[in-house]
Amino acid sequence: MSSKLADFEDSGNCIHCGLCIASCPTFLELGTEIDSPRGRIQLMRSLRDGTVPLDDTSVRHLDLCLGCRACETTCPSGVRYGALIEGAREFVESRHRRSWWERMKRGLLNRALPNPTIMKTFGWAVRWMTRLGLRRLAGTRLLPASVRRSLRYLPEPETPFRSVNLPEITAPAGAARHRVGLLAGCVMQSLFGDTHASTVRLLTQHGCEVRVPPGAGCCGALPLHNGDRERGLALARRTVAAFDGLDVDAVLTNAAGCGAAMREYGAHFKDHPGYRAAAERVAAKVRDVAEFLHGLPEFAPGRSVNVKVAYHDACHLLNGQGVEAQPRELLKNIAGIEWIDLQEADVCCGSAGTYNLTEPELAGRLAARKARNVVATGADVLVTGNPGCILQIRAALREQGSTIRVVHTADFLAEAYTHGAQARS
Ligand code: SF4
Ligand code: SF4
Repeated sequence: MSSKLADFEDSGNCIHCGLCIASCPTFLELGTEIDSPRGRIQLMRSLRDGTVPLDDTSVRHLDLCLGCRACETTCPSGVRYGALIEGAREFVESRHRRSWWERMKRGLLNRALPNPTIMKTFGWAVRWMTRLGLRRLAGTRLLPASVRRSLRYLPEPETPFRSVNLPEITAPAGAARHRVGLLAGCVMQSLFGDTHASTVRLLTQHGCEVRVPPGAGCCGALPLHNGDRERGLALARRTVAAFDGLDVDAVLTNAAGCGAAMREYGAHFKDHPGYRAAAERVAAKVRDVAEFLHGLPEFAPGRSVNVKVAYHDACHLLNGQGVEAQPRELLKNIAGIEWIDLQEADVCCGSAGTYNLTEPELAGRLAARKARNVVATGADVLVTGNPGCILQIRAALREQGSTIRVVHTADFLAEAYTHGAQARS
């Protein structure tokens, strides 16, 4: 038996109270107990005890979990659901034989997404596809439905994927008051280079020397989340080695999933005496970029803007890192902002790492639900702190005919603090 699933009693104090159920996006959509946190915890226990077979049906209910950890935030008993579902996924992947199509798809995602070279090539190919108008293939029946659904997430020409090679050291604009590390990452440096550039600009404008260690590519979050623990830990080890010993005040991330995974490095390496101390040192310094900027005494609102703004909580920022008030306060402090509260801001948009590619049907329902709530705000811009949410919500808004812009917190702040923010696209 998987050691993580065998450890279940240590990490799970579930008393079946059901207080988490109303916060679970899959329960909100499906309404079935087995697709709620309480139902899944019971299922994991039964799998561990061997009273329920590990077959396509039981695996299906675990697969449908987004890993959003909303249940963890609401649970009064401190159940660490994120660790439970990661352990359960590792258990499933090591013991259950999926169809060849599922094996190929999941294997490809776990190998390709963490590889910046592959992702940069992918980003380059997408830019050319967009220029040549091939994006329109997404709407035709020439391609299989599953491929067409994935193509929905490709960006519009005005928001292309762009890669960036960040310098190892970027000096601050004036005197250095802080020194920070920044995770280059995999998807971020390959497809969201503009957001990295905004992040570095904001930091250097506010007295930070920014260090980007070249060894820190993928942090391991995606494979860890998908049950490929061996691959995830290998990537995590590289990231720990890159940041440990770097003389910085904080290790920053601008992708919610990366930050959430890195904060748990200590727990991931608790049984690895050679790595544990270094992993704990790095984990203790991890901060989301909005959280860090919020804590800077010199971070003051720049230009006035005239934009209606709403904010969506990325699950791994809210539930994985407890970052909720800081980005909101940074945004509200910009002069001229008209703030509009988003209904169900904390409900997952269905992106959830690779969930929208592996579970497109339910991911699409959650994205449509999110887009309806966003449209109802009447906002010009929706701000959020995770690249996956941006692609997911942009696609859903497009499908509902909306022109509301969806931008990363760092991009919006950089735009507002330097040029004044643009309203709708
Ligand atoms: S996970 Fe927490 S909130 Fe949910 S049923 Fe168990 S104890 Fe209750
Ligand atoms: S992680 Fe999210 S989808 Fe999974 S059980 Fe918890 S609330 Fe539901």
